[in-house]
Amino acid sequence: MSRFWKPGSEKPSTLLVDDEEGGVVFLSSSTSSASSSGFGYASLERQRQRLPVYRYRKAILYLVERHATTIVVGETGSGKSTQIPQYLKEAGWADGGRLIGCTQPRRLAVQTVASRVAEEAGVKLGEEVGYTIRFEDQTNPGITMIKFLTDGVLIREMMEDPLLTKYRRRNSLLGSSDDMPDPEPAILSVEGKGYTVEIHYVEEPVSDYLQAAVNTVLLIHEKEPPGDILVFLTGQDDIDTAVKLLNEEIQHLGRHYFDLLILPLYSGLPRTDQDLIFTPTSKGKRKVVISTNIAETSLTLEGVVYVVDSGFSKQKCYNPVSDIESLVVAPISKASARQRAGRAGRVRPGKCFRLYTEEYYLNEMQAEGIPEMQRSNLVSCVIQLKALGIDNILGFDWPASPSPEAMIRALEVLYSLGILDEDAKLTVPIGFQVAEIPLVLWYQGSPAMVTMSSQLIHVEFSKSWFVEDIISRPYSCMIKDPMISKMLLSANDFGCSDEILTIASFLSVQSVWVSVRGVKKEFDEAKLRFAAAEKKVIDIRGQLLRLMKGFGIPLKSCEGDMKAVRKAIIAGSFANACHLEEYSQNGMYKTTRTSQEVYIHPSSVLFRVNPKWVVYQSLVSTDKHYMRNVIAIEPSWLTEAAPHFYQYRTPNPALS
Ligand code: ADP
Ligand code: MG
Repeated sequence: MSRFWKPGSEKPSTLLVDDEEGGVVFLSSSTSSASSSGFGYASLERQRQRLPVYRYRKAILYLVERHATTIVVGETGSGKSTQIPQYLKEAGWADGGRLIGCTQPRRLAVQTVASRVAEEAGVKLGEEVGYTIRFEDQTNPGITMIKFLTDGVLIREMMEDPLLTKYRRRNSLLGSSDDMPDPEPAILSVEGKGYTVEIHYVEEPVSDYLQAAVNTVLLIHEKEPPGDILVFLTGQDDIDTAVKLLNEEIQHLGRHYFDLLILPLYSGLPRTDQDLIFTPTSKGKRKVVISTNIAETSLTLEGVVYVVDSGFSKQKCYNPVSDIESLVVAPISKASARQRAGRAGRVRPGKCFRLYTEEYYLNEMQAEGIPEMQRSNLVSCVIQLKALGIDNILGFDWPASPSPEAMIRALEVLYSLGILDEDAKLTVPIGFQVAEIPLVLWYQGSPAMVTMSSQLIHVEFSKSWFVEDIISRPYSCMIKDPMISKMLLSANDFGCSDEILTIASFLSVQSVWVSVRGVKKEFDEAKLRFAAAEKKVIDIRGQLLRLMKGFGIPLKSCEGDMKAVRKAIIAGSFANACHLEEYSQNGMYKTTRTSQEVYIHPSSVLFRVNPKWVVYQSLVSTDKHYMRNVIAIEPSWLTEAAPHFYQYRTPNPALS
C-alpha cells in the first residue's frame, strides 16, 4: 500500500496556499478552526446562517430590486443555489402566483438542491418548493413558488414562452416608466469561507488510479482523525469497481474498518442512494463518497475533510471530421484539481491527496480545460438557437466559439434531415416539431455486456422484434436526438408510429440492459433494475405520445412488419449507413459518409452475423469504433429515404 503513498510524511513545499494562479484561495486555518465545533451538524437554521451568502442577504435583495440583472459570484457551497431563491421568496418575489426559477447544470443537482431547500423551508417537495427535469415534473402549478430546473428545461420553456412570463413580476422590462430597474447588471462577489487544505502528492506516478484510490482511502482511515472522504473517479464503471474493492478490503481487514460507509455518487443513481449521500454520518462512522466530477461544482457534501483526486474525469470530445462524439477518460485541468481540493476545506482544515506527482501538476497539467462548446457535436445547440429565433448563428456572440468544421457538420446534418431549409431556417413543420421534442440520448453508463439479454427481454417483453433492433446501454456515443426525433415524426408514413414510439422511449433511458452473470442474487437485482428502467420508459412513452398527438400524428401499429419499422428508423438514421468491407468473424464496415472503419458491437444480436448493409444509431469508441443499436437494411431503402443525401453525398456504385 505505502508504495504509492505517505500521507504521514508531509512535504513542506506542498503545503499550499494555492493562490498563485488566481484560483481558489484557501484561507489560513488559525482563526477559523475553532469556530467549527468538532465535527457535528448544526441545526438547519444555524447552518443557513453560517453560509457566506447570509451576510449579503440585504445587499442581494437591494440589488435585485434596483437592477434588471444581478450577478452573484461565490465559491461552490457558499449558498447561491439554496439560499438566494429563499431570500427572494421571503422578500415577496413569488407573490401573486409568480415563480422563482433556479437552474442547475445537472439533473442530479436539481433534485438534491430542491429537496434540500424544501427541507430547510419545512415544506413537502413538489409543493411550495419543486423541480422540473426532463421527463419529470415535481411542481404544483399555483402552489409552487420556488422551482429548480435544468438549463435544458428552461430553454424548452423559452420556446413556448419567450418572455418567461411565469417568472416575471415586473412588466417594466417591457416598457413603462418609473420603477424601471437599471439595465446595467450589478455584480456582487460573495466572499468564500474556505479553510486551509493541505495538498499531498504521490511520490511516484501510480499505474492504477483505481487501486491507488482504494489504498489511499484505507490509509486515511488508519492514520487520520475523523472526517468524511470524497474520492473523485471518472464514471459509474470505475466507481462501482472501487466500491466493490473497498467493501472487499473492509471485510478482509476486519473490525476497525467496519466504520467505513462506502457510497457511490453519479447521475442516474436511485433516489434512496442519493439521500444517503446527504445523511449526516453517525458518530464513530466515516463516510466515503466515491463520485464523478458532479461533486466538483454542482453538489456540496457537508462533512468532507479529505479529498482523494484521481486526476481524471470523463470528458466529452468531438471529432467533426468523423462526426464522432465520445466520452473519454482524460486528465483534468489545474483549475479542476484546485476546485476538487477546495471540497476538503468546507467545514474545517482538510487534506487533499492527489494521485499524481507534484511535478506532473506543476509542469504537465493544463491550466484550464477546453470549453465544452469546443468539444461537442453542435446539432442540438443549433436547433435550440434557431428555435429561439437566433438565426444568424455564424455571427452569434459565443462565449467560446465552436470550430467552423463542427458548425458546418451540424448544419449539414440538419439540412439533410430536412430540419433546416436552404436558407438554414427551421422548416415547417418538421424543423419546429423536432425542436420541441425533448429527446437526448444517454451517453453514460458502463459497457456491460448483455449476456442473458434474450431471456431477460422475453421475460419482460412480448414483442420479440425488439431484440433485433435495440441492444442498448450506450457507453459513450453520439448524441443524435434530431435523428430520433425525425424517426418519430416519419413513423406514420410507414404505419408504425406505435413501435417507433417505444423504440424512441427506450433510446432515451440510461440503462435498460444490465449485466447478468449467472448468480441468482445478481439476476434478481438486475430484474429489479430492469423493471425500474422499464417504468421510466413507459412514462417517457406516455409523454412522447402526448407530443405526437399534439402534432396530429396518430398512433398506429404495423403488427410486426419489421420492414416497415426498419424503414422508419432509416428515415432518421440514413446518414449512419455502413457497408460491409471485410468479411470475417466480426466483419469490418465502412461508413458511407466518411469511410470510417467501424465494427458491430459485441452486445448486438447482429454481432458476427455480418449483414451486408447496416444502419447504426450510435457509435462507441473504445479500442475501435463500435456500432450500437444496429439494424440490417437494403441499400435501396437509403436512396428511397434520402435521395438528396445519397445522390450528392455518396455516388457509391453499390447503391445505384
Ligand atoms: P452554491 O450554489 O453556492 O454552490 P449551495 O446553495 O448549493 O451552494 O449549497 C449551500 C450549502 O447547503 C452547502 O454548503 C451544503 O452544506 C448545503 N447543502 C446543499 N445541498 C444539500 C443537501 N442536499 N443536503 C444537505 N446539505 C446540502
Ligand atoms: Mg449552486
